[in-house]
Amino acid sequence: MGVRVVSVEGRLWRLIRPDAIYVWREERVRRKLEWYYRVMNNRAPAKFMLAKKVPAETDPRDLATDELWHLHSDLRREFSTMLHSVRSNGLTLDEYHKLDTPKHSFLDVKIEILRRTLSSCELCEWRCRVNRDVKVGVCRLGRESYVTTYFLHVGEEAPLVPSGTIFYGSCNFRCVFCQNYDISQLNPFTGIKAGPKELATIEEYLRLEGARNINHVGGEPTPNVHNIVASFKYLNVNVPQLWNSNMYMTPKTLELLSDLIDIWLPDFKYGNDTCALRLSAVRRYYEVITRNLRSICESGDPIIIRHLVLPNHFECCTKPVLEWISENCRNALINIMDQYRPEFWVSLNPKRYPDIARRLRRDEINAAYEHADKLGLDYREVS
Ligand code: SF4
Repeated sequence: MGVRVVSVEGRLWRLIRPDAIYVWREERVRRKLEWYYRVMNNRAPAKFMLAKKVPAETDPRDLATDELWHLHSDLRREFSTMLHSVRSNGLTLDEYHKLDTPKHSFLDVKIEILRRTLSSCELCEWRCRVNRDVKVGVCRLGRESYVTTYFLHVGEEAPLVPSGTIFYGSCNFRCVFCQNYDISQLNPFTGIKAGPKELATIEEYLRLEGARNINHVGGEPTPNVHNIVASFKYLNVNVPQLWNSNMYMTPKTLELLSDLIDIWLPDFKYGNDTCALRLSAVRRYYEVITRNLRSICESGDPIIIRHLVLPNHFECCTKPVLEWISENCRNALINIMDQYRPEFWVSLNPKRYPDIARRLRRDEINAAYEHADKLGLDYREVS
């Protein structure tokens, strides 16, 4: 299979998804997604653009890795001050383009740290510690990224449509019901090999075609974060960056990424580690995902959390997931997803997975909605 490019001509998406326009009439949506809305409408520069304007006095390539991390911490403080000022006082794109562009920047520091991380990879919580130039870890990826498809997606949540979606091959999870199993598990290397420059070209193309955001998804984007962050060096159009992920990254990866992402679209699948291990083959799921989500929620960044309701998993997963969000992330919008269908290993071997070997019943999704209502969660606008 080669790369597939699908375009939504002109304004056709407005006919298919009128809710993508009406959703912005909701005060709650505008308030919760305010930063994203501003960048989407070119009323503020995206975070990756700001990161390019924070100067690093030294060429990051000349520093030892511990020095690089120190420099990153120092520049992070400067970046936060800048971001806070832009959020409070505004900065038009014209004003942004008048700012000096330093020879070395905060973004370059991140790129260099990520480049080195691949020599003993700990981008995600598998912490394989392999040198990805010569070996592969659980995600099976070397340095290269594989883009299987990119297009203007009209099936995402209303505030995101049309979404400039880039699908990366391969994944660090092994979900037995994966609906993208062809690119995540069976044929992860069938797309085009894409380095930073190719990714930047794709991102620019999608924005110029009318994308409201660049949606990094897979598979899973985290094993590709080094190429994605490096692509921002070559990207010169303003566009919100969206991270559509299982969120199984290490704290250091999250620290590097969180200064660059304008809106988060994480999955929160399971309410416990037993279900995560049995159905996605990952350990410490709950601890890792809640740790990362807590960090994003505390930052106040725009976030839409996705929860796919599984049949027979209300008590063990849906209920604790919604309750955790209610207690820890009141600024989130929640997409409670009802489209589960048995796919991949579950459809091949339903007797092994009897609990999820059927579609969801109406009473099960209603139970999820009722619980979300009881908790006062904002889900209707994006579910
Ligand atoms: S990205 Fe994760 S799964 Fe892939 S090699 Fe690195 S630590 Fe392992």
